[in-house]
Parts: sequence; structure tokens; C-alpha cells
Amino acid sequence: SKSDGRKQYSVYSHAQSQGMEERLNLTADLRHGLQRNEFELYYQPQVSIDEARIVGVEALIRWHHPEQGMVPPDKFIGIAEETGQIIDMGRWIIREACQQLQSWSRDGMSDVRMSINLAGPQIMSDSLLDDIRRVLEETGVDPNSLEFEITESFIMSQPENTIARLNQIKSLGIKLSIDDFGTGYSSLGYLKRLPIDKLKIDKSFVFDIGRCSDDEAIAVAVIGLGQSLNLQVIAEGVEEAQHVEFLRDHGCDELQGFYYSKPLPADDCADFIRHYRVE
Ligand code: C2E
Ligand code: CA
Ligand code: CA
Ligand code: CA
Repeated sequence: SKSDGRKQYSVYSHAQSQGMEERLNLTADLRHGLQRNEFELYYQPQVSIDEARIVGVEALIRWHHPEQGMVPPDKFIGIAEETGQIIDMGRWIIREACQQLQSWSRDGMSDVRMSINLAGPQIMSDSLLDDIRRVLEETGVDPNSLEFEITESFIMSQPENTIARLNQIKSLGIKLSIDDFGTGYSSLGYLKRLPIDKLKIDKSFVFDIGRCSDDEAIAVAVIGLGQSLNLQVIAEGVEEAQHVEFLRDHGCDELQGFYYSKPLPADDCADFIRHYRVE
């Protein structure tokens, strides 16, 4: 009926304007958040396929919002990308992750690789290379122990520009990984030309390993592609023993997911790495 339609409409528009208001508030709050030190990096362990040791960690940002508590990155990274705030935030992320890595290294934990997510606008910003060089100088971090994760969908949105920029990053000695691989429609022609070291199988293809043969086929295809192009392959979203078994049987190189650990605050992650033992 007519009145039902109107009711639905008003509910819909109310929800929409709430979403807008939330975005506007978060945009304003983001501006202060960095100065007020409200951000923290968590670190999620990455395990070698024989499960013998933790080979690296992925830095994942967390926002301790003064009123809203913990705001997940999916809620603010997109906004920060649209407003350009990701540039300052991204600079902070790189410095913070490198300082952490250097501090771990001074404490005797020197064989851990640090993976850092780079957002599209950050990759294209004029200041990126200088920012990275400055952080490398300041912290003394070995660029070989750094890896940047860049999403497949961003790379394929402007492949020529991205290839040029990735070559510059690569020339600093930093490793490169394609994040969310399988979701971004890679052209195989471009893949061959990208100066990358690793493919990261998107977690949407990992969750249903053991239940969905299509997802299994995609995971196997990505691993095969990595092997033929001489790239490392890591799987994210590993939650179950059967995921581990399947990925190991098919030659995946590294594993990351809740099966091993959630992302952890730095000190907890260091404890996890130090005490990690194969069962
Ligand atoms: P991503 O880069 O694909 O990161 C992986 C996400 O999957 C993380 O969510 C991680 O906590 C989650 N995850 C890891 N293992 C499992 C698992 O076994 N099961 C499930 N269900 N989830 C798992 P998080 O930390 O909420 O980050 C979400 C996204 O926000 C990231 O996706 C990335 O796109 C973005 N993000 C997070 N931190 C940063 C950052 O420092 N810089 C940039 N540019 N983006 C970031
Ligand atoms: Ca990532
Ligand atoms: Ca991912
Ligand atoms: Ca993602």
C-alpha cells in the first residue's frame, strides 16, 4: 500500500542521513585523532607453511576513538582515502611500523618481516618516496625486511602509473605483495610486468576451503600462478585446520589467520612470536 511505501522511504532516508552524519563526524575526528595519538598498530603473525616459525607480521591500524571506542579500519580508511587524510595517516603508519620492527630487532627478534598496507592515494602521492627514505634513515630498518601490500584492485585501476611507482619502491629494496588477490581482475599481461614478490590469496577464497570446490579451485589456481611466475604465495583468513592442510598440500608458502592468531598489540605479538611452538 501507499502508506507502507512511504514508511519504508522514511526509514531508508533516515538511515542514509545517519550514515552521512557519521561520515562527517568521523572526518572531523580523524583530523584530531592523529595529533591526539588515538591510533595504534596491531600486528598479525604470518606462519611458514611447515608451521615451524613466524616469518612476518602484518601491521593493521586500530583507532581508539574517545567516545566510540574501537573503530574498525573498514569504517575510516575509505573516508581517509577520499579526504586525503590517508597521506598523513599512512606516513604515521610506515614510521610506527618501522620503529616497532627496529625495537623488536634491538630486543633480539631480528628475523621477522614487517608487512605494511599501502592505500591507493598514498602510493600515488608525491611525498611517498621521500617519506619512506626518511623513515629508513631515521629508524635504520633494513628495507629487505619490509614488505608493502597493495590491493590488486588498485593496481588494475591504473596499472601503468602503478607499475612505475612500484618500480621506484622496489628500487629501495622493499618487497611488494599484491593484497586481496583474486578479487581485482588482474590482466595476466600486467602481472608479468609488475615488480612484485608475492601474491596474497584473498580470504574470501580461503574461508570455504573444505566446503566449496569453486573456492578451492581458485586457491589452487592462484598458487599455481605464483609458482609459474616465481612468486611467493600467502593465504589470509586461515581459520581452520582443514584450510591449513589443503593449502599445504597445494604448495602455498605462508599462512595468516585467526587459526594462528588475531592481530595483536605490539607487546602481545612479540610474546606470541617468542613463545610460538609447533604443536
Ligand atoms: P586487509 O589488508 O585485507 O587485512 C586483512 C583483514 O582480515 C584484517 O582486518 C584482519 O584482521 C582480518 N583477518 C585476518 N585473519 C582473519 C581470519 O582468519 N578471519 C577473518 N574473518 N578475518 C581475518 P582489519 O584489521 O579489520 O582490516 C580491514 C582492512 O582495513 C584491511 O584489509 C585493509 O584493507 C584496511 N587496513 C587495515 N589497516 C590498514 C593500514 O594500516 N593501512 C591501510 N591502508 N589499510 C589498512
Ligand atoms: Ca593486507
Ligand atoms: Ca587482504
Ligand atoms: Ca581487504
